[in-house]
Order: sequence, then structure tokens, then C-alpha cells
Amino acid sequence: MNIHEYQAKEVFRRHGIPVPPGKVATTPEEAERIALALGGKVVVKAQVHVGGRGKAGGVKLASSPQEARDAAAKILGMEIKGLTVRKVLVTPAEDIAHEAYLGAIVDRSSGAVVLMASPEGGIDIEEVAAKTPELIFKERIDPRYGMLPHQALRLAYRLYAGDTARARQAAEIIQKLYAAMLDAGASLIEINPLITTPSGQLQAIDAKMNIDDNELFRRSAVAELRDTESEAAAEVEARAKGLTYIKLDGNVGCCVNGAGLAMATMDLVKYYGGEPANFLDIGGSSSPEKVIVALQIITADEAVKSILFNIFGGITRCDDVANGIVEATRQFKLKVPITIRLTGTNEEKAVEILEGAGFSAMTDMDEAVRKAVELATS
Ligand code: GDP
Ligand code: MN
Repeated sequence: MNIHEYQAKEVFRRHGIPVPPGKVATTPEEAERIALALGGKVVVKAQVHVGGRGKAGGVKLASSPQEARDAAAKILGMEIKGLTVRKVLVTPAEDIAHEAYLGAIVDRSSGAVVLMASPEGGIDIEEVAAKTPELIFKERIDPRYGMLPHQALRLAYRLYAGDTARARQAAEIIQKLYAAMLDAGASLIEINPLITTPSGQLQAIDAKMNIDDNELFRRSAVAELRDTESEAAAEVEARAKGLTYIKLDGNVGCCVNGAGLAMATMDLVKYYGGEPANFLDIGGSSSPEKVIVALQIITADEAVKSILFNIFGGITRCDDVANGIVEATRQFKLKVPITIRLTGTNEEKAVEILEGAGFSAMTDMDEAVRKAVELATS
């Protein structure tokens, strides 16, 4: 689950990480009032679940309440990477002497949380990682001991070599960032940029947190931070119906039962030169109803040029899936070709149902994926 910058800053504040004040507005007038109350120059910032808002025009400086209103009017309703901006954060414009990067992720390859710091903050950290990886410093945190003070200090001195006062501030922030991450059940936490003001104070002027969905059941206060209005509509709908859906950039719409098979299917789509349009897992016990919702979601994606069903019947019954497909196509017309592969429980019954409705089905996964990819590119 993603949370907004203003929510992450609230978490930071509770953990004692220095963040500028600020308030959220949903209308230009509200933004103006907040700017007036803050006084001086402000920054109006789109609250959407994507990075790179600055580059997309979602972060604007305003030197008067009037300008803040105009900036909010431009940003509210704007689309950034497919998501509509419904809220803006209005916060004092800080003077920036330096921008650094601080972040932490759950790193699967090292089986631990890894903290990262770079004196080259502000811009895309991915670009720094690609071009000058030696400027990203890392510390692996042993889960048995947690972060040790010397690890935080080592990173801090890498950021601000020769500046003890700043390095000490940074070391404290690093410790608190790690604590905030564990406390919220985050899989990623970032401050980019961590700025130095002209007077030498550190401030987190951007904040990002991804929460591990599996941590939510035992953290109701964190779970309440979910803002379904700001999530992709299809993902919200899928979750409500018990499906797992993630939109991707390709054009082969995949509908699969089970996360493992979904991954394998995506791999195979890529192997045959295609690009999956989504990850969609209809789950174990599929009812025809779930299949209908799945097809609605897939067909609503304009990028999809070919649909691929890959069903391995176990608890999932192939005839349920077949009935879902037939019923769905009665309710709405498919505009793109569909390739169906199913095998396992009630396979014969499924084939009968599908053929009765004019569809064909196959049992070989390779063959089906190759065909679906071909149909997407032809
Ligand atoms: P992002 O583009 O989504 O990462 O949004 P950020 O909050 O990181 O803002 C992007 C950039 O805008 C930062 O790297 C800063 O250079 C600039 N910026 C953001 N807030 C302020 C501010 O308070 N004062 C000034 N001068 N620049 C800011
Ligand atoms: Mn940023």
C-alpha cells in the first residue's frame, strides 16, 4: 500500500524526524487560506502515489496566497502517470543549500533492511544509481541487533564528511527513519531530498513510504491511511472482489489462477517476445462471478490487444472459469481476441461449455502463450 507524502510526513513527525509544517487542500481556495496562514513563500505539491511529481509539473513554488491558489488550480485535477490529483500539500518553501538522499528498503537478496544514503539527492536516485553507483552508500541492518549507532554514523559521515554537526543530525535522522520503517511495517521509506537549510539545519522536504500489505492486519492505524480515491480504480475494484490485479505496461492481458502461475505466465509472455499488460490472479476458488470481474477489468484497459486465460484447475474448477467467460461475453462484447488455456479439474466440461459458445480452448501452456503474443502483435 502506498501512502501520500503528507501522511508519511505525519509519521516522520511522530518519530521526531524534522519536517516542515503544512496542510492538505482539496480546493484552490483552501490552498490560498493555508498559504495565508503559513505566511511567506510556499510550495504546492500534488499528492499522488507516484514519484517524479516535480518533473511532471506537480510541484510549484508560490510567493503569495494568490499564487498558491493559482498553483493549486493547475495541479488539482492534473493527471500524473495515469493518476488524477485530488489533494495538494501546501508547505513553506524552504531555502535549500544542499539536497541529499536517504532511504531504506527490505532487500530480499541480502535478507535484511538495507539503508541507503547519497549526497546526490533531489534528482532521480535511479539515475545516480545507474551513472554513479559509487555515490550511493549502503548499510545492511542485521535483524538480530537492529541498527547499531556506528552504522548510522558511518552513513551520516559519508553524506557530510568533515561537518560533525550535520553528520550528528543526520545520524539521528537515520536511526529514526529505521524506527519509523519498522513501526509502520514499511517495505520502503525515503527522504528525497533531505535538505540542508542555509543555517545548517536538516529537513525532510519529501517523504515516501510503501507499506507491506501483509503488515496491515495488525496495524489498524496504518491501514486507515489507505486512500482508495487516489489508487487506480481497477486495482481497488479487483481488491474488493478478492482478485489481485496490478497494471503493467504491455498489451497481453493475462488472467490466471494463482500467483505462482501468474508469474510463470508473465515470464513466458516475455519469453515469446510479448509484454504482459497486467498481473491478475483470480485466486484459488474461482466463481464465474470473479471471472466476469476479471474480464471487465482487463477489457477496460485500452492497451490490451489480446487476452490470455491460463488456468490450472485444482481447487479452481475449469467449468466455473468457462461459465464465467461465456457469461461475461454475453454481458459485454470483447473487442480483442481471447486465447484460453485450461487444464485440470473439470477440463472436459469446460471445453464443452466453451466450444458450445463458439470459443476454442487448449491445454498446452506454451502453445497458448505463443498464440496470445502473436495475436497482440499482429
Ligand atoms: P518529487 O518530484 O515527487 O520527488 O517531489 P519533491 O518533493 O522531491 O520535489 C521536487 C523538487 O522540488 C525538490 O527536489 C526540490 O528541488 C524542489 N522543492 C520541493 N520543495 C521545495 C521547497 O520547499 N523549496 C524549494 N526551493 N524547492 C523545493
Ligand atoms: Mn522527491
